[in-house]
This record gives sequence, structure tokens and C-alpha cells, in this order.
Amino acid sequence: MRRYYDSGITKTLAFRKEQLQKLKATILRYEKDIAAVLYEDLKKSPEETWVTETGFLLSEIRAILNDLRLWMKPERVPTNLLNLPSSSYIIREPLGVVLIIGPWNYPLQLLFAPLAGAIAAGNCVVLKASEFATATAKLMEKLIAEIFAPEYILFDRSDGASVIPAMMKSFRFDHVFYTGSTQVGKIIYQLAAEKLVPVTLELGGKSPCVIEEDADLEVAARRIGMTKFSNAGQMCVAPDYVLVNNKIKGRFVTALINVIRQFFTDDPSMSDNFGKIIHQKHFNRLIGFLKESKILSGGKFNEKTLHLEPTIVGDISLDSSLMKEEIFGPILPVIGFDTHEQAKAIINKNPDPLAFYVFTSDRQKEKKWIEEVSFGGGCINNASWHLTNHHLPFGGRGNSGIGSYHGKASFEIFSHRKSIMKTPTWFDPSIKYPPFKGKLALFKKVIR
Ligand code: NAD
Repeated sequence: MRRYYDSGITKTLAFRKEQLQKLKATILRYEKDIAAVLYEDLKKSPEETWVTETGFLLSEIRAILNDLRLWMKPERVPTNLLNLPSSSYIIREPLGVVLIIGPWNYPLQLLFAPLAGAIAAGNCVVLKASEFATATAKLMEKLIAEIFAPEYILFDRSDGASVIPAMMKSFRFDHVFYTGSTQVGKIIYQLAAEKLVPVTLELGGKSPCVIEEDADLEVAARRIGMTKFSNAGQMCVAPDYVLVNNKIKGRFVTALINVIRQFFTDDPSMSDNFGKIIHQKHFNRLIGFLKESKILSGGKFNEKTLHLEPTIVGDISLDSSLMKEEIFGPILPVIGFDTHEQAKAIINKNPDPLAFYVFTSDRQKEKKWIEEVSFGGGCINNASWHLTNHHLPFGGRGNSGIGSYHGKASFEIFSHRKSIMKTPTWFDPSIKYPPFKGKLALFKKVIR
């Protein structure tokens, strides 16, 4: 891979565009197979798969193809007085051979969207798919092998805990782009540190959702219900818990229960619109959470099919693991608050969430929440849709990650910004050279 990269073949605009076109065409050609494997792994409907995986990815590739020529142009920047008559510019060059590690919850999109960015920036890529979305990983392996030479894009779907440390110890990648849990993110960061490899960490966390007294409750219930229970709650930007003003808490819970019934019928396990939990271990973890709270709605589960109903819980201790760990499943704690400060104190127990949502019709409250809470990105009167706008860089901060991507940000994160100054030779005043005695006053005029 290193030799292939060094040959320079991946660097031209024509090559990058051709590979992106190939990726796009292959995804379209395999659209039905993609829908089938995602149904097998996570019981995603073809519609959900289109919105959150296939279609999402295609629009990401389209956005990159539209503007790639522009992004690759050297960027002229001004030159300061000291360096005149030099000129200055920045060129974006590829990083080299990069490693992209994906999770199982959106196994296609979360591996191939960064891949599109890495190709656009001219890199060679090792793709490490999650071993848990098995059917999708097998299809992705086939698809990649069909269109790319292994010295350009290499695919692996084996057990991450054994293969990733071995890979990162034996080879120096030029960048590691990791999506997954904060816990494993720390391991990746440590492995990268040993060889001073830069990282992008797209992690998780507990993303809060605040509902103020003046919110449109019906809309809030619909938007929260849709996002929280999409992919059976196994979404990094799903509202992890809801903080709702006590004056409207009862009404909100009733509205949400109605919404769940409308979306997923009385038996969500039979609904085409409601997914399943990825594996037994994760399922057991979620069932454990149910014992820590009072179930307000839902709560039925089937261990054989790994189904857990959309579940609303209340009466939760803030010290329970339910309020300490990222839930990552169809359980939504609803917690009442009386004052802004009370709600903020609860949010601050799990600092730097990946996302934050506030539902309110009051501009002042909206502003206060957005400014006072530290988080990756978020929405006002909506939940999770910010990540579908490729003009918005997507990523966390602190506990929820390092760096961001999507659209132009994906190109930037896989590029190095090389700063260049070009100086003409016809102007070379002796003031710049020793001896410096007597020149201090002039230096003070020019450099300040
Ligand atoms: P995970 O951390 O268990 O696994 C992610 C990847 O890391 C997999 O490819 C796996 O093989 C590898 N891995 C696992 N253990 C490893 C180890 N010890 N050493 C090296 N590599 C290892 O994450 P997951 O369970 O697949 O995904 C769920 C988590 O991902 C949640 O916390 C969720 O919030 C987060 N997530 C974040 C985003 C985002 O964009 N920020 C998106 C999706 C998921």
C-alpha cells in the first residue's frame, strides 16, 4: 500500500473522481443486497436503510464530486508586511495510508462515508469493518474487492480487539479515523500515540434533550420518538434521555406514548419500522437497565429475536448506571425539572455529549441552552437531522471525540494543509541580514 501510494497514482483529480464514481455506481448496483443484509443484521426496513445508509452515502459522494475540483485548488492567502513582496498559498495534499475503523450500528454508512472523504483527499485506505454486523461486513468486503485493488483499498472484518492493535503496532498509518465507543476510542488513541499518528475519534456519550414549557409538544414527541427509536435506539446521536419541564411532563409522556403506537403499532416487534438489537451481550445490558427504573410504557422483550419494545422510563436515580452509561437502545428516561439550573446540573454530570437538543419557542431560552452547554453539534426543535446536512461538520468534543467530517470537512480531515511562501529574488535588502547593529528601531516598526 505504501509503495502504491508513493507511486503518486492516487493523487490526481481524475483518479479520485473515477474511484468515487465507481463506489457510487457499485452502491447503486447493490442497493437491494445492501437492504437485505441490513435487514438481516439489524432488521432495518429498506426505507430506513435508504435514509440512514445508502441514500445518505450517495448524497455525501455527490456533494464531494460536485466540489472536489474547487477544494483541491491551491488556496491563495494574504502575505504580511514583513514578507512582502512574497506570495503565500496553501495546498491540500493527501495524508498517505490511513486506517478507517467502523462500528456496527450504521455499518455501511459509517465506514464508507469517511472512505469517500479519504479517496477524495487522495489517500490509500485500510477499512476495518465491525465484526458484529456480519452480513453487511461480508457484502462490503465483496463490493470493495470488486472495484478496488487491495494495495489501494484493503478491507478487513476480523475481530477488532486482536487485529487493530497488531496492525497499528506493526505499521505506521498516516491517520486513524475511528468511529465507536469512548472506551475503545481511548485504546485507539493510545495505540496511535505510540507512533505519533494523528486521529479522528467519532465517539458516543449521553446526548441530552431538553423540552421547555413553551415547546410544541406534539411536534417534539414526533421528532424525538422518530429519532430515539430509529434503528432500535442504536444511534450515536439519539436523544439518550429527556429533561422536560415538570409542568408539561405528564402531557409529553402521553404524547410520546401515542406517537410510539402510531409509528410502530401495538406490537413493535412485528412492525417493519422497528429494528432489533445487534447481539445478545448488548441485549442483556439493555435489559439490565430496565431493572433500575420504573417503566412508564413498553418494556416487553423477546430474548430469542433480540427485540426490546420502545420503552419510556421514569423515577430514575441520577447515580444509576442508566444515567451514567450511554444507553444505545430503545429505552428513553424522562426526567422532570423545575429550573434551568437543575436541568443543567444533570447534563453536566456527563460532560461534552456528542449531541444536544432543545425544544422551545422562546429565542432567549434557545440561545441560553446552546451557549451554556458544551456539545459536539445539535438541533433546535429537532433531533439528529443536523448530521444529514453535509454543510455542517459532524463530530464531538472532549469525551465525545476529536475532529469532524461530512462534505468538505471530510476532505479536509484526510488532507494535510501545506503552507508555502514564494519569494522573488529581485528584492533582497541588506537590512534582513547581519550585522544587525543599529537596525532594532526599524525591526520594531515592521515586526509588531
Ligand atoms: P466499539 O467501540 O465496540 O467498536 C468499534 C470498532 O472498534 C469495531 O470495528 C471493533 O472491531 C473495534 N474494536 C472493538 N474493541 C477493540 C479493541 N479492544 N481494540 C481495538 N479495536 C477494537 O463500538 P460499537 O459497539 O461498534 O459502536 C457503538 C459505539 O459507537 C457507541 O458508543 C456509539 O455512540 C458510538 N458511535 C459513534 C458515532 C459517531 O459518529 N460519533 C457513530 C456511531 C456509533
